[in-house]
Amino acid sequence: MRASQFHLATTKETPSEAEIVSHQLMLRAGLVRRLSSGLYNLMPLGLRVVRKIEAIVREEMNRAGGIELLMPAVQPAEIWQESARWEKYGPELLRMQDRHGRDFCMGPTHEEVITDIARKELRSYKQLPINFYQIQTKFRDEIRPRFGVMRSREFIMKDAYSFHTTEASLLETFDDMHNAYCEIFNRIGLEYRPVEADSGSIGGAKSREFHVLADSGEDALAYSTGDEFAANVEKAAAVAQGTRGEASSDMAVVPTPGVHTIDELSKALNVDAKQCAKTLLVEGTESPVVALVLRGDHQLNAIKAEHLEQVASPLTFASAEAIQSVANCDAGSIGPVGLTIPVIADADAANMSNFVCGANKNDQHITGVNWLRDLPEPVIADIRNVVEGDASPTGKGEIKIVRGIEVGHIFQLGTTYSEAMKATILDENGKSQDMHMGCYGIGITRVAAAAIEQNHDDKGIIWPESIAPFTAVISPINMVKSDAVKAAAEKLYQQLKDANVDVLLDDRPLRPGVMFAEMELIGIPHRFVVSEKLLAENQLEYKGRSDSEATLINIEEAVQKITAK
Ligand code: ATP
Ligand code: MG
Repeated sequence: MRASQFHLATTKETPSEAEIVSHQLMLRAGLVRRLSSGLYNLMPLGLRVVRKIEAIVREEMNRAGGIELLMPAVQPAEIWQESARWEKYGPELLRMQDRHGRDFCMGPTHEEVITDIARKELRSYKQLPINFYQIQTKFRDEIRPRFGVMRSREFIMKDAYSFHTTEASLLETFDDMHNAYCEIFNRIGLEYRPVEADSGSIGGAKSREFHVLADSGEDALAYSTGDEFAANVEKAAAVAQGTRGEASSDMAVVPTPGVHTIDELSKALNVDAKQCAKTLLVEGTESPVVALVLRGDHQLNAIKAEHLEQVASPLTFASAEAIQSVANCDAGSIGPVGLTIPVIADADAANMSNFVCGANKNDQHITGVNWLRDLPEPVIADIRNVVEGDASPTGKGEIKIVRGIEVGHIFQLGTTYSEAMKATILDENGKSQDMHMGCYGIGITRVAAAAIEQNHDDKGIIWPESIAPFTAVISPINMVKSDAVKAAAEKLYQQLKDANVDVLLDDRPLRPGVMFAEMELIGIPHRFVVSEKLLAENQLEYKGRSDSEATLINIEEAVQKITAK
């Protein structure tokens, strides 16, 4: 490609709407342009990156036995009603009507469509296992679209769906997909980690996420120093970190004017947050309000809490009026003593003794509180986030936390969708049974953003070679004036093209400094500088994008510099 015939549009200024570096650099390098909230144009340079990611994903999916198809982006409501997700999915599902008043949605995912295909196409166990995939545009009306294509409303996903006669067969394909994903992220050249995960609205038994490690990642990941345990903090099981001590103090009500938070409480009474109980009132299923109790230094895990049968899903905090009616106070003064609603405590909160909590009276707290003596034993459930230093739930090692960007998610769905949508198959004995299902997604456009988040410097993007928009750039100095430079640059350009290198010839009449800065911002992995002075010595200047210095090489070595890698 010749730069003069391509559309490059870089900017020096950092766009003010972009908070994270990948979004800033994608805008500055001209990879994407915003159309509207959560809607982005993939500009020619950005599309080249996306196509390269897709090619790697497609190759590895095919290698793992996947079969590509393409489903419509618009889906009829009927199949979503069959799976019961028309009601369940909530406002992230963009619903619309056609001219006849029939309901449709823009597909946020394709379980319903593929299950409809499966129930019509698959009849016999002999056709299974089978794994269909597509690379296609999804729409999710995200509550907070942000960070550019990292969390957009429209994005490109690779989604695969497998069908099986037995659970064992599903587990086999789940493992194959796990390995294919590792292969994909290894080939792209990203530092990543697979972790156990919550299944969210997709449903099903077990799921695993793939995260690109980056400090700006939205997800916290817990792993153990003692073994292979790794899980999203949303999912990572918290275990009791000790046992309950003796009840040695008497209960006493103390005035705490203006104290609403654990931080204020621990300062006002000069006690560690670990000695304070945090009581949160949420909407329940049987009881209208349920109390959740945590140790003051711990955080509620909303996903674990809403999975409890006593707690309404999605997790909803009780209104100020509801709090008044069950606790007679404001949110900052609630405590478990004397409550007549169900009380659920985290294991560590249940192990507290002589603790401090709200008195269910504004501006008052109680000290010296002990379970069993002063209030009934709570129901114990895992409702908190694990924190660094916790003992691992596997019993080996301790928990460390890193941040990650979720780029892939694989699920064992089991028979959830096939049961709901009557996708059955005749087994070896001619008996009808529900098909077992798995599903496997990769956020293609998010991978591009995550790669930048992990690979950049103050000059711009440092693309892994596998997905760079161009692998190499030839930057001739003063090509318009020097026939020798022009001839040498054109020759190298032809040689690199012949060697199948994705090369950009920067044939624009620009000053060298401007040209170099732009290619560094775009992040092209290899740069060759052709100049009259160097040509006199039969040389070129070579610089890898992350090299600190350029080196001189003989012209003949140029092609090999790239193809030998
Ligand atoms: P998240 O928790 O980030 O919202 P999710 O669990 O909703 O993700 P899945 O339903 O598992 O995502 O979708 C598969 C993949 O699609 C994700 O792993 C992610 O890479 C990508 N993805 C999901 N939502 C978005 C989005 N709004 N923008 C870009 N990519 C997305
Ligand atoms: Mg989501």
